[in-house]
Amino acid sequence: MNQQEKVVEIKDLRKSFGDLKVLQGVDLDLFNEEILVVLGKSGSGKSVLIKIMVGLLTQDSGSMKVFGQEIAQLKKKPLNAMRLRIGFSFQSSALYDSMTVRENMEFPLVRNEKNLSRKEIDRRIEELLDSVGLPQTINQLPSELSGGQKKRIGVARTLILNPEIMLYDEPTAGLDPITCGDINNLILDVREQYKTSSIVITHDLTCAKQTGDRMAVLLDGQFKSVGTFDEVFPNADDARVKSFYDYNF
Ligand code: ADP
Ligand code: MG
Repeated sequence: MNQQEKVVEIKDLRKSFGDLKVLQGVDLDLFNEEILVVLGKSGSGKSVLIKIMVGLLTQDSGSMKVFGQEIAQLKKKPLNAMRLRIGFSFQSSALYDSMTVRENMEFPLVRNEKNLSRKEIDRRIEELLDSVGLPQTINQLPSELSGGQKKRIGVARTLILNPEIMLYDEPTAGLDPITCGDINNLILDVREQYKTSSIVITHDLTCAKQTGDRMAVLLDGQFKSVGTFDEVFPNADDARVKSFYDYNF
C-alpha cells in the first residue's frame, strides 16, 4: 500500500447526544503508515470520533470510511472483520487483573477463534513482549506492574491480532514524563515494525511533537487546524489553538 493512500476518510461527520452537539462537520483523513495526533480539550468529542470509527457509535450524518468501507453500513460479520483490522485501546480498557500477562495477551486470540497452535501462540506472545521491552513480565499479574508497563502490555495485547490501524486513546495520561517518553518511542517503534497507521489522542503536546506526522485540533466539533506541528503551532491564528501551545511550552 502506497503511503499516499487514505486508510480513513471522514467527511462532514456529525454526532449529537440530545441537545449536545459533539461532532459538527468533521473532515479528516488518515494516510497509510501515518501517525496522526488528535488534540482537543476534555469533552470535545475525541473518543466519540474513534468509537464511530470502530462501529461502537453511529453518526447522525456524514461519512466515516475505513479501508474504503462505510462503517455505518457494515452488518455484524463484516463489522467484526473490520474491527480485527483496527487495534483500539480506550482510556478505560484495562488488563484483566486476575490474568497473567500471558493470559491477557492470549485472550484476544482465543476470543477471535484464530486457529493457531500452542507453539504459534507462544511465539507470537514472546515476539510482542520483546517488541515492547517486557519479556520478563510474562507470568506476572497486572498488579505487579507499573503504570507504564501496563500501558506497554496493553499495546502488545492490541497488536496480537495484527491490526493495520492503531488507535491510542490518551496513551500517556497519568504517566510521569520519562515514562511518557518511553510510550512515545513505543508508538514510533510499532509503526516502524508493524507498518501500522495510527491515531493518537492526547493532551500532551510533547507527545504530539515527538510522535505525530500531523496534528489535528478538535475545536467546536470540527478540525480547524490540521498540519505538521510547526504548521499548527506556535503561530496559530486561533487563540485557543495558541493557548494549547502556550500552556505546554
Ligand atoms: P473526549 O474528547 O474527552 O474524549 P468524548 O468524546 O468522550 O470526549 O465525549 C464528548 C461529549 O459527548 C461529552 O460531553 C460526553 O459526555 C458526551 N458523550 C459521549 N458519549 C456519550 C454517550 N454515549 N451518550 C451521551 N453522551 C455522550
Ligand atoms: Mg476521551
